[in-house]
Amino acid sequence: MKEVLVIGAGLAGLTCARTLQARGVECLVLDAAEAVGGRVRTDEVEGFRLDRGFQVLLTAYPATREWLSYDALRLGNFAPGARVLTPSGEGRVSDPWRAPGRMWETLRAPIGTLADKLRVGALRLASTRGTLDAIWERAKRSAAEELRARGFSPLMLERFLRPWLGGIFLERELTTSNRMLFFVYRMFSEGYAALPAGGMQRIPEQLAAGLKPDTCRLGAKVVAVKSGATSGGHEIVLADGERINARHVVIACDGATAARLVPELAAPAWRSVTCVQWAAPESPLGGEPVLWLNGTGHGRINNLVVPSDVAADYAPKGSALVSTTVIGECIETDAELVSRLSVELTGHHGAVVKDWRALAVQRIRCALPVVVPESGAKAKQTVREGHWVCGDHFASASIQGAMASGQSVGEALAAE
Ligand SMILES: Cc1cc2nc3c(=O)[nH]c(=O)nc-3n(C[C@H](O)[C@H](O)[C@H](O)COP(=O)(O)OP(=O)(O)OC[C@H]3O[C@@H](n4cnc5c(N)ncnc54)[C@H](O)[C@@H]3O)c2cc1C
Repeated sequence: MKEVLVIGAGLAGLTCARTLQARGVECLVLDAAEAVGGRVRTDEVEGFRLDRGFQVLLTAYPATREWLSYDALRLGNFAPGARVLTPSGEGRVSDPWRAPGRMWETLRAPIGTLADKLRVGALRLASTRGTLDAIWERAKRSAAEELRARGFSPLMLERFLRPWLGGIFLERELTTSNRMLFFVYRMFSEGYAALPAGGMQRIPEQLAAGLKPDTCRLGAKVVAVKSGATSGGHEIVLADGERINARHVVIACDGATAARLVPELAAPAWRSVTCVQWAAPESPLGGEPVLWLNGTGHGRINNLVVPSDVAADYAPKGSALVSTTVIGECIETDAELVSRLSVELTGHHGAVVKDWRALAVQRIRCALPVVVPESGAKAKQTVREGHWVCGDHFASASIQGAMASGQSVGEALAAE
């Protein structure tokens, strides 16, 4: 009988397994997919590295600081702030604490009032005061309510805050909680948004490389978890009929699968996103590693990035990878969507877009779970005797949430 079976080799499952092994507890990780990483995967297409949906590592995440070697990932950082297209031209929002030289440019940008720019400072202070854990205890309201209560003007909301936060929360109404707003703002203030050389999948791969050989079994889909099926243990059943017994089972799947395997759990609602990745002869942002936001209030594209401007190996030499994000699901066919976005991009970036070629249309229906309530993932998560649950749906919909939740379960289980 195995000591611990971990179902899911996403960031939560891998961090749980690393925590267990660091404390001398034997474990086996099973995953239905053919590679580790779960929602953090990168496909190679014609020499381009396409992350499955635009995502970034925030270097201030405590869990990634603890578990990852940033040097080995050869991180490339985004410049703090963003370039924002508005109806009256392009402007820049930067972080005056880290780019004081750009303060004047930011103050002049047609993105909000002077008072709004002072309110950004107040929001930064509110986000960075106290401990990170205490953020999850603050009085809860939606991010939109928080921003309104802080007096941000509609102009600032529409031109910058809605596209910026909308791209992170994958919803533009900003119904996500103010706790998540404070958390994200704090992480952006205390570190950088970054990409590893060669793609985001290098993150789970690095975690998996720290496990003992043969800890991860891939292509192993779990279809049932049976409680107390064997004396002193539990049984899991794989899609091919194989049965494995273990003293403890950690369910580190996405929230929907976890709810199918464990009826006591409620399935979360999901935020969706559609990402179109393009091969371009050169970067439309002039090689600057910066987030570009659509603050016009029109069009489908919420944000655009050029990963090959940020980190090595995202595009073959002499070309650029452009990644565009549309929040939510799109009903058009791939060809229709590509054609519509090409027209929109031409309006934003000019005639160069005619030389761009769509490499992939990525439709990610289950991207971020709607987490209620979010937590710092310190709580011990057992659903029944010997059954443990971790994952972003139990903490916060982020790399930090997934890893902290996995670590927390690993620590609690090892202490049993
Ligand atoms: C498009 C997109 C953008 C994002 N942007 C960011 C960002 O910028 N910053 C950030 O911090 N976070 C971001 N996130 C969120 C972050 O990626 C997730 O919160 C995190 O990866 C979740 O990890 P997890 O281990 O909890 O779940 P998952 O990654 O879903 O892992 C679950 C694992 O369980 C496996 N599994 C499922 N069912 C079974 C089964 N029956 N049997 C065996 N195995 C099974 C799956 O194959 C998977 O490997 C983004 C996510 C997406 C999709």
